[in-house]
Amino acid sequence: MRKKIVAGNWKMNGSLADNQALISEILTALPDSCEGAVFCPAPYLSQVQGLLAGSAWSYGSQDISVFESGAYTGEISVSMVKEFGATMTLVGHSERRAYHGETSATVAEKAHAALVGGLRPIVCIGETLAERESGRTFDVIASQLDPVVEKLSAFVRDAQWPVVLAYEPVWAIGTGKTASPEQAQEVHQFIRERLATLLGQDVAQGVRILYGGSVKSSNAQELFAQNDIDGGLVGGAALISKDFVGILQATLR
Ligand code: PEP
Repeated sequence: MRKKIVAGNWKMNGSLADNQALISEILTALPDSCEGAVFCPAPYLSQVQGLLAGSAWSYGSQDISVFESGAYTGEISVSMVKEFGATMTLVGHSERRAYHGETSATVAEKAHAALVGGLRPIVCIGETLAERESGRTFDVIASQLDPVVEKLSAFVRDAQWPVVLAYEPVWAIGTGKTASPEQAQEVHQFIRERLATLLGQDVAQGVRILYGGSVKSSNAQELFAQNDIDGGLVGGAALISKDFVGILQATLR
């Protein structure tokens, strides 16, 4: 039985006041049915650490450098993020791939740096609309997944792989267009089958694969009911406490 994860990606949103209000409204709303995490902008890690202290919530950064330190202006390292008590990081979000030219090889390096340094990565993969419409969804997913598995296969211990995946079709992110439960399940199943081929069936069965792309409280339950969907990575709706709490509650059913 895979425990669901609901994670909020705040992107470049928030302020000290807004973060405080948001966290106070979601703090006690995390049901036992799921793990909860927030990914805040790096300047707010210290504040989020304080606000979530003593709770079951996890938190982390939206990206990390492959390097440990040095002349990499604007980057943040795994050890910096860990100093603020973070235990997770996103890597390979489609906005990083699109606006910062991150390749799947870079994403694999980042996930590797995270694991080596002791952060659990959520690795995001997903096709664009053009790729879907030209029938290349599975090829794109495989081309994004394979380098990550290849680079990180050595981290399997006792049939557990400490990587979380997020399938986020680019055409559904921030657009209000959600993949149908069937469309999402089809890709999640493909991902799990590929993991089974590459890492073995036992390992594949334990990997959490989140869906991301306009998840709302109104569609979360149907999405989370699919066999291979193990929770959600939530952007816009993670900034509105009522909506985010509704998505957390969708893991109860
Ligand atoms: C995201 O940023 O990962 C995301 C899924 O955004 P949204 O929920 O707004 O589509």
